[in-house]
Amino acid sequence: MPAKIDSLGNWRRTHYSKDIKPSEEGKEATVFGWVSGIRNQGGIVFIIITDKDGVAQITVHKNKISKEVLSRVESLSDHASIAVKGKIKAMDKAPNGAEIIPDGVKVLALPQKTPPFTLYAKTLPSIDKRFEIRAVDLRRPEALAIFRIREKALETIRGFLKDHGYYEVNTPKIIATATEGGAALFPLLYYDKEAFLTQSPQLFKEQLVMPFEKVFEIAPAYRAEQSRTLHHLSEFLSIDVEEAFVDYKDIMNTIEKMIAKLHASISKECNKELETLGTKVPSIEKIPRMTYDAILELLKGKDAQVEWGDDLTSELLDKIAEELPSYYFVIDWPTKSKPFYIKPSSNPEISESFDLMHGSLEIASGGTRLSSKKELINRLKEKGLKPKGFEYHLAVFDYGMPPHAGFGLGFERLLMVLTNQKNIREVSVFPRDQFRLTP
Ligand code: ATP
Ligand code: MG
Repeated sequence: MPAKIDSLGNWRRTHYSKDIKPSEEGKEATVFGWVSGIRNQGGIVFIIITDKDGVAQITVHKNKISKEVLSRVESLSDHASIAVKGKIKAMDKAPNGAEIIPDGVKVLALPQKTPPFTLYAKTLPSIDKRFEIRAVDLRRPEALAIFRIREKALETIRGFLKDHGYYEVNTPKIIATATEGGAALFPLLYYDKEAFLTQSPQLFKEQLVMPFEKVFEIAPAYRAEQSRTLHHLSEFLSIDVEEAFVDYKDIMNTIEKMIAKLHASISKECNKELETLGTKVPSIEKIPRMTYDAILELLKGKDAQVEWGDDLTSELLDKIAEELPSYYFVIDWPTKSKPFYIKPSSNPEISESFDLMHGSLEIASGGTRLSSKKELINRLKEKGLKPKGFEYHLAVFDYGMPPHAGFGLGFERLLMVLTNQKNIREVSVFPRDQFRLTP
């Protein structure tokens, strides 16, 4: 006999899973969720349901329940969507210390297929297999833990920036010309003209320090990355900050405080999630600053072949990470390795720039910006870019652009650190890469 599907009718939730606790003992509750575990123990069936906040235990005593409710319970399997009405009872061994003894159950949806992975499996099928049904994959406890941490991390960073007086802004994602040159841009048709998706809000945020002084934006950035790595997406969430009347050292101080605050709040408020992921978020106070030159010395001490001016390739970064496994800044990069808007220091070969690293992973890039139009034009030319293409940007520099500095931070990269993930795709709900445009 095919199992019966009930309608929602007039049942509405009275409690979330987190509210099923000993202090509610004796109260009537209606809970909703999906079945994430069933255990049949002779005369008792334990059903675990998951809702947006966590899990609750439904304890069914077979001989104390109507045949009708029992037949519904027996039709259940993992992922079934159900509603339960019953009484809350304190129970030490249950999640949150209480369970529900049901007197009514509605079956709202039953799975027609079994996913190619179980919820608690230690070994999983390939990421591509799982991502075909990503929303189902996201029901695994590890995935749920990652996204609860993501939510908290975003809230903490936004709160930190607001508390420190930054204005939140939103800038266009469709643009006319390249920010830093043509590579890695996605072209699109804008009415009858060619346009691009932004790879960074860099130029907009710099302009916005004129009216707002301290700005931040949390928004997607798009890059047509040509290599498939474990830390590049085609669309990622960029946290961008720009501030007037400061230089790159002040900005690094701000980042240091932000990371310290982030680690403190995740380790305090995401205990359960970190435990599910089998990881810890250490407390951070100071982030060491290493000059580019000091990093080259470190590399030479490890027999690496590297010349002054070289970029730090992933092989080199792996060697550095052996010595510096946590956060560190690499500062004072060769001017020629940084974009045109970065300010050279008193020695023009070296720039007022930094990368925030975690082991071998780049988390953020920033620096003091050029605020003189003349110098910007020179640097554009040196980089082989045409100043004419940047006229709309350079125009405002004629009206008293203050000295300013800032950074761009890849939020998914930071999440990889917090949640201890090796593949950036695991921390994005629907990742985009060279080979993935669905779901
Ligand atoms: P990488 O060298 O790792 O490709 P980048 O130096 O080109 O990064 P920036 O232009 O400095 O990147 O962008 C600022 C930050 O944005 C980076 O430090 C990184 O955290 C993040 N980021 C850049 N590209 C990507 C990407 N394709 N996917 C995810 N995050 C990215
Ligand atoms: Mg960078």
